[in-house]
Amino acid sequence: MNDVVAESNKPLKDLPDMPTLVSLAKRRGFVFQSSEIYGGLNSCWDYGPLGIEVKLAVKQSWWNAMTRLQDDVEGIDASILMHPRVWEASGHVENFNDPLVDCKQCKARHRADHLKPVKELEKKLGFLPKLEEMAEVLAGTACPACGTKGTLTPPRLFNMMFKTHMGPIADDANLVYLRPETAQGIFVNFRNVQESMRRRLPFGIAQIGKSFRNEITPGNFTFRTREFEQMEMQYFVKPGTDTEFFEQWRQKRFEWHTSNGIRKEKLRFHPHGPNELAHYAKQAEDIQYEFPIGWQELEGIHNRTDFDLRRHGEFSGKSLQYVDTADGNNKYIPYVIETAVGCDRAVLTVLCDAFRFNEERVVMQFHPNFAPYKVAVFPLMKKEELVGPAQKLYAELRKHYKTDYDDTGSIGKRYRRQEEIGTPFCVTIDYDGLTDQTVTIRHRDTMAQERISIDKVHAYIQNAFQNWS
Ligand code: ATP
Repeated sequence: MNDVVAESNKPLKDLPDMPTLVSLAKRRGFVFQSSEIYGGLNSCWDYGPLGIEVKLAVKQSWWNAMTRLQDDVEGIDASILMHPRVWEASGHVENFNDPLVDCKQCKARHRADHLKPVKELEKKLGFLPKLEEMAEVLAGTACPACGTKGTLTPPRLFNMMFKTHMGPIADDANLVYLRPETAQGIFVNFRNVQESMRRRLPFGIAQIGKSFRNEITPGNFTFRTREFEQMEMQYFVKPGTDTEFFEQWRQKRFEWHTSNGIRKEKLRFHPHGPNELAHYAKQAEDIQYEFPIGWQELEGIHNRTDFDLRRHGEFSGKSLQYVDTADGNNKYIPYVIETAVGCDRAVLTVLCDAFRFNEERVVMQFHPNFAPYKVAVFPLMKKEELVGPAQKLYAELRKHYKTDYDDTGSIGKRYRRQEEIGTPFCVTIDYDGLTDQTVTIRHRDTMAQERISIDKVHAYIQNAFQNWS
């Protein structure tokens, strides 16, 4: 049985570019373009049957790390629509703007602060130039889309919040926003959670949920979209201890990514300089991943100070001060350390990092936690005497983890398919095995095959997952 397919062990290379991943994702049911039969909707993507498994596993891993294993963090699930005053207090109505320029020739839209001359000026000045200064350096610049010179409009500020109306009448009185970050749902529930769960500082609140930003330049597959999911945690601390907790959380968050099997050499920290800091932040650091489009932000860790709670206190008239009974009933507004990672971006990282290929095959080398199927069962041929025991094993393994069953085509082809969807193990029932109750188990990454007893398959896989490196 071991000779059913001659396999060469040529070295594997990393994902070369994003379109290669987009094509695999569609072909194998990970991610589809939204509304594809209508020509698609720009920047919107749908997770397919295998993609949703990866995404759920990413959420599960985050939720476990942040709430179950972290006994000082509570979870919540706040609504997407919130009172419009929330976004005035948070500063998003006033400040959540990106500078936008249009090309008069080809109608392409660009983010002014992403264009080379502006970036260079920003580097020289040490902070983001004013709109007039941007306009000056962009005046003679060629449009990056069509190459025509001098066709870019002066930049103007564009607020990225999506607006809609609550109720049947669309007027300003019932204007609401789709939240651009999940964090505000946590801030406005600070007191509810603290009191109902009898929490003392320091403690955190975690949440996974959708956010919406009307990005000027979405793109690069799911890297930047207008609707996306975030996994955010706000950790409330006594002022003065914030720097110490910032340090702790930045380390913990880096380790979360490596514990998910993301290669360490593909991850790095990127501290924000004073010009990069958001309107609420005192200190910020990104965790970046080396995507095929270069090093890009995957997660942000921010010291948001007491900005948000203080502003909500002022705008709502309800004090969000904390009475510190451990400190002589001293009253203060807690500082906040935030960890914010895009769920879709974390899934994209898992996909990019797992992708390996050579001339013969593509292998998604997922950490077993993220593999959509943990194991696949094959009868060597579609013959009654093999199908019976294969079906029986399949039914047994499905009780423990998502298992695939395939009896079509050659064994070689079935292996190739399972490699492309990243199934760590394939189990084949052949004629030899019928006499001595054994199967062949094949390892995705080494392609090594072993013959083991059929009643040991589950224990073998469990053990391999526990000792995965
Ligand atoms: P940028 O400056 O690139 O627009 P940001 O620094 O404003 O992003 P944060 O507000 O810190 O991003 O958001 C936290 C995380 O949410 C990001 O690290 C990223 O993983 C994710 N995220 C933000 N915007 C998007 C988006 N448009 N599409 C997908 N994920 C996003």
